[in-house]
Amino acid sequence: MTTYFSYPSDALQQELRKIANAIVMPGKGILAADESTGTMGKRLTAINVENTEENRRKYRQLLFTTDKELGTHISGVILFHETLYQKTDDGRPFVELIRQLGIIPGIKVDKGVVPLMGSEGESTTQGLDDLSQRCAQYKKDGCDFAKWRCVLKIGKNTPSYQSMLENANVLARYASICQMNGLVPIVEPEVLMDGSHDLDRAQKVTEAVLAFTYKALNDHHVFLEGTLLKPNMVLAGQECPTKYTPQQAAEATVLALSRTVPAAVPGICFLSGGQSEEEATVHLDAINKTKIGRKPWSLTFSYGRALQASAIKAWKGTNVKAGQDELMKRARANGLAAQGKYAAGSCAGAAGDAGLFVKNHQY
Ligand code: 13P
Repeated sequence: MTTYFSYPSDALQQELRKIANAIVMPGKGILAADESTGTMGKRLTAINVENTEENRRKYRQLLFTTDKELGTHISGVILFHETLYQKTDDGRPFVELIRQLGIIPGIKVDKGVVPLMGSEGESTTQGLDDLSQRCAQYKKDGCDFAKWRCVLKIGKNTPSYQSMLENANVLARYASICQMNGLVPIVEPEVLMDGSHDLDRAQKVTEAVLAFTYKALNDHHVFLEGTLLKPNMVLAGQECPTKYTPQQAAEATVLALSRTVPAAVPGICFLSGGQSEEEATVHLDAINKTKIGRKPWSLTFSYGRALQASAIKAWKGTNVKAGQDELMKRARANGLAAQGKYAAGSCAGAAGDAGLFVKNHQY
């Protein structure tokens, strides 16, 4: 590896930096609405709605026709390929609607997880082959950022060196390809909540995974100012008998990040990972409130389940206004949490405090 490398042109650096900074402006975060067709099927079945392209379109139309206040809390939305090319009932492209709300369209570009041979149930993420062409097309079609999710599991012997190395490398390749095509890469190495591990183990694993990730990003000459990180919060496993306070989780999270994520990265947008809506908001708020560690980046949300659980439940296939009200409430609450200004319990949703955990979650 040569150490004589060049970063992207000044113009490209400026463009990437501008997009990344706009996404993590104070009080704003991302709506992850990039559920694959299969995952959307599970969400729709739960409210007795058939998983057809038309019903998926109707649900996403609800999201993007929410009042323009949405754009004061949401800066970016991650779309699934199908959704990027869908239109409203009266023929307006969703991308236009999203832009009119002042929200930046983004796109999921990974093609899902596949097993790693010889591992203890570990995976890598596929989709590199035609990625450059797809990124170029998505940029032309109105997207300014992308997402790629890698998954790491905590077990007795996992995550292994093999999976940390491989997932870090694939994230770095993805990030560099995005940047070459003018898209800000959201780098997502998700350490799952599955298991009975305690908070300390979750913290150590998250630190190791992030250290591998940033080494690989550096090896691939990724321009960090034009990237965003989408990590898990540091939380004990779903089956851990010890319960921790939001403050303890917040401290473990900030410590892990401050030890591993360079200050050049403009923002960290957490995934919700199976927490209830309220838990995800309270944890984000605690992370922003905690005085421990140094926090040189914006700390905000990129939630899927924790922004949409109440909305889809209230919608039930027909109640558009009720669904939009729920989405707005959660967006507002998380916008406050991103500034450390949320009062726990002040935002009750239709999904209540129901856990949204799914074992070995696929997206
Ligand atoms: P959750 O917030 O539902 O974990 O999903 C976020 C996401 O985009 C996972 O890739």
